[in-house]
Amino acid sequence: MAKDSIREEAKAILTHHIEEKKMRKTPERFSILDVVLDMKGHHSVEDIQGMMPDDFPVSRPTVYSTMDILEELKIVQAHQLNGIKLYERAIGVKPHHHYICTSCGMITDLVDKQIDYVLGNAKTPRFSKEAGIAYIFGLCSKCKAVINKKKKKEEKERLANMTREEKRFAQIDKDLANMAEELKKVGIGKD
Ligand SMILES: [Zn+2]
Ligand SMILES: [Zn+2]
Repeated sequence: MAKDSIREEAKAILTHHIEEKKMRKTPERFSILDVVLDMKGHHSVEDIQGMMPDDFPVSRPTVYSTMDILEELKIVQAHQLNGIKLYERAIGVKPHHHYICTSCGMITDLVDKQIDYVLGNAKTPRFSKEAGIAYIFGLCSKCKAVINKKKKKEEKERLANMTREEKRFAQIDKDLANMAEELKKVGIGKD
């Protein structure tokens, strides 16, 4: 689907919904729709509010209520991650899975036919399936590198500390030897 036709289709869906629900046809909702259709990736309500054009600011509650409608109309897909609701464009986008970095929160789309197959064939007794999205949690390469570096530093420090400890033991041995020598001199500890 071409980008313009997706935009037209999304506008038509929203217009139909607003008319059907006898809601006020405010320009804010369409302005938010425009921003949502252009956004890449996964964003919170706060992010989306920040993406609004400077000459067309909208209130946080308006963004919240509009995103609820867009989710209901399947124009966007919502993800509840780490207690934050993140939205991504769904209209004109193939359904997909995600992998998420638990350290920095980076979300990456994942298209995987094997996961589709497994989810599609999963047995769900007394439950009719509609959709399945997989989330794979782990660490991105950047965070993994930072964590490895930290681990290495800790290990180095541990080794450094151990050497100090060993030095202390060595000093104690030396002191004891000296003490024994002194005792010998005064005639204690002979034989
Ligand atoms: Zn990360
Ligand atoms: Zn996605």
